[in-house]
Amino acid sequence: MSPRAKAESPAEKKARGRKILAILAKTYPDARIELRSSTPLELLVATILSAQCTDERVNAVTADLFPRYRTARDWAAIEPARLEQEIYSTGFYKAKARSILGMARALLERHGGEVPRTAEELTALPGVGRKTASVVLGNAFGIPALAVDTHVFRVSQRLGLARAEEADEVNDQLCALWPRESWTQATHLLIWHGRRTCFARKPNCPACTVRALCPWPEKTVEGAPVPVPARPPARPPSGRARPKGRK
Ligand code: SF4
Repeated sequence: MSPRAKAESPAEKKARGRKILAILAKTYPDARIELRSSTPLELLVATILSAQCTDERVNAVTADLFPRYRTARDWAAIEPARLEQEIYSTGFYKAKARSILGMARALLERHGGEVPRTAEELTALPGVGRKTASVVLGNAFGIPALAVDTHVFRVSQRLGLARAEEADEVNDQLCALWPRESWTQATHLLIWHGRRTCFARKPNCPACTVRALCPWPEKTVEGAPVPVPARPPARPPSGRARPKGRK
């Protein structure tokens, strides 16, 4: 029976959500964060740079930056105009430079140059929203955290696992669906599915391994023209967590 044939109870949704996660885990056994970093500070910088930019571009830029700027003190001491120039190709370079410099100074002033390990302290840093904090907690510190970027937002809504206009609400709904220990990996799996199959404009539904569990009414079919929805299922997340440009 289609998941849409009758109203789904919270327990049924939870069971379907867990099945989807299990299938995606088999589909993408190598799913992991694609931003390169070797320290929490590097991951923080890379995540700030990744707003409205592809991970590939960020990795190309940070490959040059990270060997030269290793500590919060190094980052805080960069001339703003120089940093803007160095990160120019990631877009929104003025705002990103401001965020990185402000973040590095705040780390020195409040945390002895170390990246804090709580969402509250991380989101109090300049340029760090809930998504960035979750990425750092989950991937640098191994503290389970769900991060809602543009792919997680889109894929979870198509799969009927979340229904909300704002990223924070989607985040809360997905956290309620899956056990805490799976939050970080669930983020990777939804991002990988969004990048490799459930594309924004032309999802590859015929090849989708969770197709049978997906209630999206505009699923594409083999050989048929791909429908372009008149409007997206919901508008992208807003605010600092806005992931619009992440690919
Ligand atoms: S069936 Fe299509 S819309 Fe649904 S999750 Fe798979 S690719 Fe996305």
